[in-house]
Amino acid sequence: MCQCRVRLRPYRLRRRGGPPFSSLNLPRLAGPDYPATVAIARSALHDVLFRAAEELGASITLGTTVASLNETSGTVEVEFSDGERGAYDFVVGCDGFHSTVRKLAFSDVPEASFTGLAVWRATMPRHRDVDSMQMFYGPNTKAGVNPHSATRCSCFWSSRSATATGCRRTRCTCCWPSSFGFQRDGDVACAPMGERPAKVDYRPMNSFLLPSPWHRGRVAVIGDAAHTTTPHLATGAGIAIEDAVVLAELLAADLSVAELLEQFMARRFDRCRLVVETAVKLGEMEKDTTIPIQSHFDLMSATFRKLAEPI
Ligand SMILES: Cc1cc2nc3c(=O)[nH]c(=O)nc-3n(C[C@H](O)[C@H](O)[C@H](O)COP(=O)(O)OP(=O)(O)OC[C@H]3O[C@@H](n4cnc5c(N)ncnc54)[C@H](O)[C@@H]3O)c2cc1C
Repeated sequence: MCQCRVRLRPYRLRRRGGPPFSSLNLPRLAGPDYPATVAIARSALHDVLFRAAEELGASITLGTTVASLNETSGTVEVEFSDGERGAYDFVVGCDGFHSTVRKLAFSDVPEASFTGLAVWRATMPRHRDVDSMQMFYGPNTKAGVNPHSATRCSCFWSSRSATATGCRRTRCTCCWPSSFGFQRDGDVACAPMGERPAKVDYRPMNSFLLPSPWHRGRVAVIGDAAHTTTPHLATGAGIAIEDAVVLAELLAADLSVAELLEQFMARRFDRCRLVVETAVKLGEMEKDTTIPIQSHFDLMSATFRKLAEPI
């Protein structure tokens, strides 16, 4: 087993300063000996995927991107930014929320919606008590820690934000130079002590669902390019990977591109919509302090039970 992955106990939920008041026992889909979820640093996941792709003989070219797509009878001609060209039966864009493939192939894409929430994230040394994902609920704000290796954990703090823009790194008015600050919506907030500014990530939470189908002709988009969820269910990467697994399964079957895409949408759309829409709903619940926190977990549990169904 890769040393970077961590077995997680059930999620634990706390009120500010209090003991756990609830936990989320997720279904162990791979069997009783395997954890329901694993946390992994993005860089470690990249290593795992890159190694596996190389071992399988995939041809990988870095440092270039798609410049144009042109579909003619049965083929997509692709021009790359380094001047290379190629002709392909089928093109799949897995290029994230700001997808260039989507921009090139789709003319009718709805705007993403800003949820009014934003999240600060950083990784930090892992305290021995951090043995599971733990979330701390306060009025209008939520914080959490999530171990992703034997020695490191990620932490986050989310709150309301008036604007969908990023934030500016600046000198903290109260404790510079021992710490630093971020300026957002006119306010300056301190960053965690000991973390370098470049390692703190601030992100407005956006939600986006491309209406079905996620293809135009022989060009398709999957993952965040088709469905970008807020992190409320911590499942965006999970459903992006599922997209790839289902697509690979269908590509191995003897199907035409049209049949493949039809079956792909039938298996993926409602499931991804469930994640995107439930995550938005959880964000709305977070903003309404009259809603008991237990209701958040009831909705999360019900959604994870649904997501435990076969893909
Ligand atoms: C704050 C936050 C917390 C999250 N927490 C979780 C979590 O706990 N669990 C979870 O499962 N998900 C989580 N997610 C969601 C998860 O990060 C995404 O759903 C996932 O990364 C989507 O994978 P992707 O491969 O589709 O897109 P991305 O991860 O965005 O990857 C796209 C790739 O394409 C590359 N690219 C972009 N444009 C081009 C181009 N023009 N040419 C070539 N390459 C290009 C990018 O460099 C990038 O490598 C979180 C998201 C956010 C914002």
